[in-house]
Amino acid sequence: MKRLDLRLRITVAISVVCISIVAALGGLLYMASERMELALVEQLVAEELDFLVRRHEADPEYVPDPGPNVEYYAFRPDETSPDLPRFLQDLGNGHYEIDIGEGRGERDVVIRQVGDMRFVVVYNIGPYEQREQEFKRLILIALFVVMGLAVVLGYLLSGFLTRQLTLLAQKVSTLQPNHPYDSLLRDEQDREVATLALALDKYHQLFLTMIKREQEFTANISHELRTPLTAIGTSCELLQADSSLSEKGRVRVHNIMQAAKAMTEHARALLLLARQHEIKEREKFTAHEFLNDVVVTFRDEMDRKGLIYETQVPPNASLNTNRAALQLVLCNLLSNAVTYTASGFVQVSLMDGKLLVSDSGPGIPEDKLPLIIERSYRGQNETGGLGLGLDIVRRICEQLGWTMEVQSVVGEGSTFTIDLGADVLSYSS
Ligand code: ADP
Repeated sequence: MKRLDLRLRITVAISVVCISIVAALGGLLYMASERMELALVEQLVAEELDFLVRRHEADPEYVPDPGPNVEYYAFRPDETSPDLPRFLQDLGNGHYEIDIGEGRGERDVVIRQVGDMRFVVVYNIGPYEQREQEFKRLILIALFVVMGLAVVLGYLLSGFLTRQLTLLAQKVSTLQPNHPYDSLLRDEQDREVATLALALDKYHQLFLTMIKREQEFTANISHELRTPLTAIGTSCELLQADSSLSEKGRVRVHNIMQAAKAMTEHARALLLLARQHEIKEREKFTAHEFLNDVVVTFRDEMDRKGLIYETQVPPNASLNTNRAALQLVLCNLLSNAVTYTASGFVQVSLMDGKLLVSDSGPGIPEDKLPLIIERSYRGQNETGGLGLGLDIVRRICEQLGWTMEVQSVVGEGSTFTIDLGADVLSYSS
């Protein structure tokens, strides 16, 4: 179930408290007034009866005239009294509250036997009942008014109480990783909000330190790799110049040189990723030459597996982007295509501003597609990959504003599409 936001929850809490207090107070008032009225009526009726008995003792013939709400009766029970209403006829001594029916309301009745005389006082408590109903209605109206007021005031009050928190949440939600960070702590903040802002400031500092450390680590690694790679390259060049080297050996040395060159480019790209500002630097180069440089590293493996390599790149196409970054992307996609495809083809295309790498490999199940770009996800493969390749591709795409899409059919193959945007691929006439 979706939880209410903090402001609404405070509004509900304030409203519930106000309404409960007013309802309890109203209920108590109603009960107290009912009791008081009852006691009053009982006292009144008892006094009227005392008055009737005293008057009868002074003058046995005297029976007071009925008032607007009171009637008096004095008679001997063995003589039938023709005036006695039906609802009084079977009652003995005592105090009664009787609903006389037909909507004529309730009567409070006291009957007392003194000697051979029976005295009856009947009091119409209808007007009291009516006032009681009016009072009840008034309490209900007050309750509804309080309900409305409590909701409105509660909402305004909760807005005031949560304002600082809402402002802080808004500020946090607009933070961008590469934008300058303005401290979240403010003088006017309440203690709790200030504590939260301070904790977030500290967390952000920690986060920056970690990123810096990671970038330094990547930069150091890739920098350190360059010296041995240059040494490999130089040694290969010297070896190639050796006339005693067989033709087969020369091809091998050439392949080692190409692999070292690719690794140097990788190191450069990793360095670029670590130094985020450099990745935006662009250069213009021909698409064909670029593809040949990348593909050469995978030639041996494709030949060994008997894979057909196809390419669809217009001869006049050129690219204008960060070459090292694009090379890293293509190498990773091509490496996966060659690694996971046992037979069939591997294809690289450049068209409509998009780079496509397709293969006739095993494909990726639909439910695994969102997972493959996760860092360390390796699927069911037994090739010993680290699950880092597509994560690097994703990070480069994020940095350069490219998008990656994967289409795959299990048993038929996969196509990875990188949308490079409108201005990267162009065609010279
Ligand atoms: P790695 O290849 O080192 O394991 P990646 O991040 O490059 O890591 O790929 C993640 C997972 O995605 C792979 O382990 C594999 O299961 C799947 N995958 C990637 N590319 C392909 C492809 N072309 N064909 C089939 N599966 C693939």
